[in-house]
Amino acid sequence: MAKLSPLLKQATPVVVDHGEGAYLYDVDGRRHLDFTAGIGVTSTGHCHPRVVAAAQEQVGKLIHGQYTTVMHKPLLELTERLTEVLPSGLDSLFFSNSGSEAVEAALRLTRQATGRPNVIVFQGGFHGRTVAAATMTTSGTRFSAGFSPLMGGVHVAPFPFAYRYGWDEKTATDFALRELDYLFATQTSPAETAAFFIEPMLGEGGYVPANPEFMAGLRQRADEHGILLVIDEIQTGFGRTGKFWGHQHFDVRPDVITIAKGLASGFPISGIAASQELMAKAWPGSQGGTYGGNAVACAAAVATLGVIQDEGLVENAAARGRQLLEGARAVADKTPAIGDVRGLGLLVGSEFVTPEGKPDNATASAAQKLAAERGLLMLTCGAHMNVVRMIPPLIVTSEQIDDALEIWTDVVATVTK
Ligand code: PMP
Repeated sequence: MAKLSPLLKQATPVVVDHGEGAYLYDVDGRRHLDFTAGIGVTSTGHCHPRVVAAAQEQVGKLIHGQYTTVMHKPLLELTERLTEVLPSGLDSLFFSNSGSEAVEAALRLTRQATGRPNVIVFQGGFHGRTVAAATMTTSGTRFSAGFSPLMGGVHVAPFPFAYRYGWDEKTATDFALRELDYLFATQTSPAETAAFFIEPMLGEGGYVPANPEFMAGLRQRADEHGILLVIDEIQTGFGRTGKFWGHQHFDVRPDVITIAKGLASGFPISGIAASQELMAKAWPGSQGGTYGGNAVACAAAVATLGVIQDEGLVENAAARGRQLLEGARAVADKTPAIGDVRGLGLLVGSEFVTPEGKPDNATASAAQKLAAERGLLMLTCGAHMNVVRMIPPLIVTSEQIDDALEIWTDVVATVTK
């Protein structure tokens, strides 16, 4: 047996042979209900036949055509299809391979377009692991530990995490916006600030949705000072939250959005979307990479968008999300060990706490591991990894949600006994 690098640390001992729909099958033939979806990636389920067919067909025609040399049909088709679903005004797209690269592309674009050096991110946000993206990530200290100095020009403002503050949503929001104004007065003036980078819902930071007032406050400050609002939709896009884009829960207009994960059912592709006018301010040659907009990934993304539309997956995410959230809340109602259950659509987190209300990573981890033993794969998240999160594929059925909740009920009863 080959020795794996300690960097390849797994949350479960499962070695996968193949995947189908909402299930993974391991090398011993055991079936696992996959409520991780590759961290919110395989939204159409594992190996959806339409995605497989599109990718197989494309592999036979053209695998790689470098876009600074030649254009190819799948990239043109994907651009066309995405333009139909993007928020109005965001009609220009640029592609890369991972979420972190998309975040860095947005960082470069907003600095170049405004000529301003600084960006503001929000406490608990996750934007990736490359050095710039890790500098912009505050969802846990581990993401930037041990390799400083990090990038300069990143300032952190509070996110309205009402439950953790022990406040109501309005108090938390007023506080966060006041602190943002304080940041402007003391650390980065609006005239030096290129952009806000925000997730519609903290993902890795613990599944904490933003709220309409907070987003409106950001938009208002962005408009007032010529700051660009970058909404990181990498985890929340493509129907995951029960609306096509996560920010549509808050009726806020982004200047740039970053996309990845659910875009191509598992093929590595990411991107940024902005207006043609804004994108034209990027400096030619400063963006890009060899593999961005790979032909097979683009073909898989076009097929994925077709499946999302034809199978009504946004609507399914909304309905199944309600079922999952209600079920998870019913489980939490039976124990003080789960202090809060939060989410949007098919992103649902249960926060484990000690009797004093402090983050309880040990019980969360025990629950995640026991559930995996019983055939339900989930992950943890949050600054203290004390939130167990469920991220089923968007094709999940009502019966599969019931199956997961049955296991979850049992697991929580066992670990909190
Ligand atoms: N932004 C958000 C909101 C994410 O959830 C993630 C990945 N979890 C990233 C950026 C980084 O994406 P990647 O891991 O593909 O670099």
